[in-house]
Amino acid sequence: MLHARSAGLENGQPISPPIVTTAKYALAGTPNTPYTYGRDINPTVEAAEAAIAALEDAPVVAFPSGMAAITAAMMACAEAGDRVLVPSDGYYVTRVLLEEILAGHEITFDAIPTTAYASHDFSPYAIIWCETPSNPGLDLCSIRSIAEAAKATGAKVIVDNTTLTPLLQRPLDLGADMVVSSDTKAMAGHSDCLFGHVTTRDEALLAKVVRWRKVSGSIPDPFAAFLLHRGLMTLDVRLERMCANAAALVDRIDGHSALKTLKFPGIGFVIGLTFESEAKAESFINNCPVIFPSTSFGGVHTSAERRARWGDDVPDGFVRLSVGCEPTDALVDAIEASLASL
Ligand SMILES: *Cc1c(COP(=O)(O)O)cnc(C)c1O
Repeated sequence: MLHARSAGLENGQPISPPIVTTAKYALAGTPNTPYTYGRDINPTVEAAEAAIAALEDAPVVAFPSGMAAITAAMMACAEAGDRVLVPSDGYYVTRVLLEEILAGHEITFDAIPTTAYASHDFSPYAIIWCETPSNPGLDLCSIRSIAEAAKATGAKVIVDNTTLTPLLQRPLDLGADMVVSSDTKAMAGHSDCLFGHVTTRDEALLAKVVRWRKVSGSIPDPFAAFLLHRGLMTLDVRLERMCANAAALVDRIDGHSALKTLKFPGIGFVIGLTFESEAKAESFINNCPVIFPSTSFGGVHTSAERRARWGDDVPDGFVRLSVGCEPTDALVDAIEASLASL
């Protein structure tokens, strides 16, 4: 990924992609260039897509947010009369999209826990939507087994791969038909832009996603594309630190008397901590000097929030902790000290 762009440059060209802000391109007579209008195509967005494509090993279509990517994937793969299976412990806005918007287009859905996917009958569904690890539940399912079972019933498998990124998990290699991601999280990594992408190796599905973006007007802003590209250049080193920090923290605090439970899928940088009460959880989040109280995850700052405040189906004392890039010892010591003071 780091050298995919630089390898194609001629002398005098910039290593970082120029931020091209234009709605229009010179276009006289019969159009003989793909660069016709800013809603279709933009060179900075293309640079971001090329970098993500190098990680996915597949063509990528960028979107202005994770939800814009999720909407595009649903619209490309589902039609009126279809039924979609989604995780009840996964990202809640995906269910809101189905419940409040797609229901009006006669697309219905069922929501079941991620851990129930393995034994569920897929025959009623056009789309099997999975998240593994799920956000915020952090439960796992086998993409490979789901893809095999879905092939037998003809369903398309779409994976929301936000929590791991293509560096830690590539669902297309495991048999998924399509992947969506909120690149607002670890991919961009600095909590300074919204971004998303869809990737698929199925040319017909790819064409539908491209068409959806053009017709619905859902292309990212070039400045956000620049920030995403810049963030991606350090994805590997950020993830390495974040995952090492998360593992070191789990080693130190698992079983701590201030915690009812600790959930860690063994990969990634998100940890689920359950405290005995909402008050204890809030005190932990708000009084620890190395935790930034906020929603979202995957940034360079360690951050945390109580997911029950959004209505997620988790205990009141459940905290989703996103481990950041701070020096390991300082981070682990400060969090352990905060737990001890509760
Ligand atoms: C944050 C998130 C989204 C939505 O992404 P936005 O960029 O906020 O639109 C989708 N799926 C998962 C798993 C997420 O964590």
